[in-house]
Parts: sequence; C-alpha cells; structure tokens
Amino acid sequence: MDSAQKTETVNPTTDAERIDFADLCRDLDGIVCDYPYCDPASVLQVAAWDLRDRTEDGEHPGRDDAPGLLLALHAASWYAVSGRIDDPAVVDSMIEALERAAAGYEAGTCPHPGGEGHPDLTDESPDSIVSLILPLYDEEEWTDYYGTDFADDAGERARWSCPGFLRDVAESTLATLRGGRNELFGPPNIDALERVYLKPDGRADIPRLTRDAGDAAYGGSPGLTEKASVLAAHRLAQGAPEEERLPLLLTVGFAVQNATWKAIPPETAELYHRALESVDQAPLAAPCPHPDGHPGVDVAARDWARLARALHDPSAERGMAVDEAAVRCPRFAAERAVALLRLTGEHLTHG
Ligand SMILES: [Zn+2]
Ligand SMILES: [Zn+2]
Repeated sequence: MDSAQKTETVNPTTDAERIDFADLCRDLDGIVCDYPYCDPASVLQVAAWDLRDRTEDGEHPGRDDAPGLLLALHAASWYAVSGRIDDPAVVDSMIEALERAAAGYEAGTCPHPGGEGHPDLTDESPDSIVSLILPLYDEEEWTDYYGTDFADDAGERARWSCPGFLRDVAESTLATLRGGRNELFGPPNIDALERVYLKPDGRADIPRLTRDAGDAAYGGSPGLTEKASVLAAHRLAQGAPEEERLPLLLTVGFAVQNATWKAIPPETAELYHRALESVDQAPLAAPCPHPDGHPGVDVAARDWARLARALHDPSAERGMAVDEAAVRCPRFAAERAVALLRLTGEHLTHG
C-alpha cells in the first residue's frame, strides 16, 4: 500500500471527502458497457481505495458513501477480471476493500432472515446496477427512477443500506474477483493449456497457438496471449519436436517482447527464460549462409506471432516480406534466443 496515497485520502476535513457519484457513475457507465472513455484501471483503483478508507475502523465522514462504492465495484467486477485490465494490483485493491467491507457489515444486524426483502441484483445487468447508485444518494433521482408512489416508501430505500444486503453484495463480488484473479494472474495450469493447444496425436496445434498468442497485438486479450505463450514456452523447454521449435520460439519471443511484466506471475517469467535457454546455441559458433547477419528478417515485435503462423501456413503470410531461408537458419534462432534471454533475465525474481 502506498502510504502517501493513504494520508491523502484519510484525514478528511471537508465535504470534498464525499464521493461525487454523478461523476463516478458517468465513468462507470462507459466501463461496464465496455466503451470506457476514461482509464478504467485508475477509476477502479481509486474507487477501491475510497471504499477501503470508508470501511476502516472508526468514523469516516464519508462512511455513507460505502454502499454506493460497493455497488460500483460490484457492477465493474466482471470488467476487472475480463483481461482488459492488465495490472493485478488493481484487482488486489478491489479485493482488499471488499474484504474489509464484508467484515464490517458482518457485525451489523439484518432484520431479513434468509435475505428475504433484500433488493435482488441477480437479474440486473452491470449498467442497470450503475444506474441504481445515484438514486440512493439523491432524492430527486430516486423519485425520477422509481416514480412518486414507490419513492415515498422509506422502507424501500432503506433495504439498499441493509448491512445483510451489503455483506452479500461484497461476498458475491469477492467470489467473482478472486476466481478471475487466479485465472488471469495465477500460476499457469499446464494440464488445462495442453487440453486446449495440443492435438489428439500430442502435437502442438500451431495455428491456434500462434493466433491466440498474437491476439493482444490486435486489440484482443493479454490473458489469452499469455496462456498460449506459456504453453509454447512449456513445449520448447520440454524438448518439443524439431518442426515445432521455430514457431514456438517466435511465439515465446512475441510474448517476451510485448509483455506487461508486472502482470506476469514469476513462474511464467522463469518458464519463458527456461524455454529460451533450451534453444540450441551451437550454431553461433559455426558459419551460416548469411555472412551479413539476418537482415532479411526485419519483423516488428508485434508481428512475431504472425510470422510464426506464416511459417506454418504460407497462405497466412499476407503482407509479410520476409527472407524465409534466413528465418529458418539455426543461427538466426540462436541469435534471437540470446537477445531474448537478456530481456527475460531482467525480470527473473530468483536466480
Ligand atoms: Zn437485511
Ligand atoms: Zn544464417
């Protein structure tokens, strides 16, 4: 936890400490509909810190803001673990805040046995949950939203701040975040990946592997890229057959060059490193037919997975002008592995 940050958000003295829910809900609307026009990671990070501060022991002047923040994190939880946010620290902050909230509301008294009488969020979409937040804090919005008859029922509004209800919301949000975090940022499960990326005969499904690996470069999910790259690295390190080794090396090379290192578990960084160490470096000591090096292989970092795919299926090569003989030169592979090992070496936590 950043202590400077903490000092800034605790010690409240004025109304400035209250959350501007109109502002927050505008940002959230974009996020939960998957069209964010702000930085989702920082919106969710700040909302998590704000909730944490309001659930700390002792009175916080903005304590009443906690239910709204809780609903905000609940609505955005699917987004936080969808692979669109590549910093696990954001998800960790959300989890920390929700754990405190769940514990804080545990002590409260709920007059609704079995949750009977609590608002039912199960059928609400994330954006409709966001649209419920502002009415909780604004009489006029509440009347607009529910109509006058319903709005006059004070009990109706009170249900939303029932400690039992809030605890349930915190716990179901925690379940989503913990499960998603483990899947996205936990150590790779090789068995599960082999079921996806190996063919029934035990060979790697190179087209699928290279397509998924390159996904992030074309706006797709970093999580999918990492899964495919982890399997490629595992195959390489375990002595993959000769015909697979070059596409696997290029796939690992793509992952290493495009990695968001803080989002990668240490086990994965070590696996990438081991995979690259398994590349035969003997060709470095022998002459090859390319005395000027391999200048015919000038491929941008984001296109390495595409190159791997093109080697396997020339019809996928669209637009790539590459000296194929130079790519297939064993010395080229050895040179690339040495260069990539320098990168992975910087990100190893032990050894
Ligand atoms: Zn209750
Ligand atoms: Zn060569």
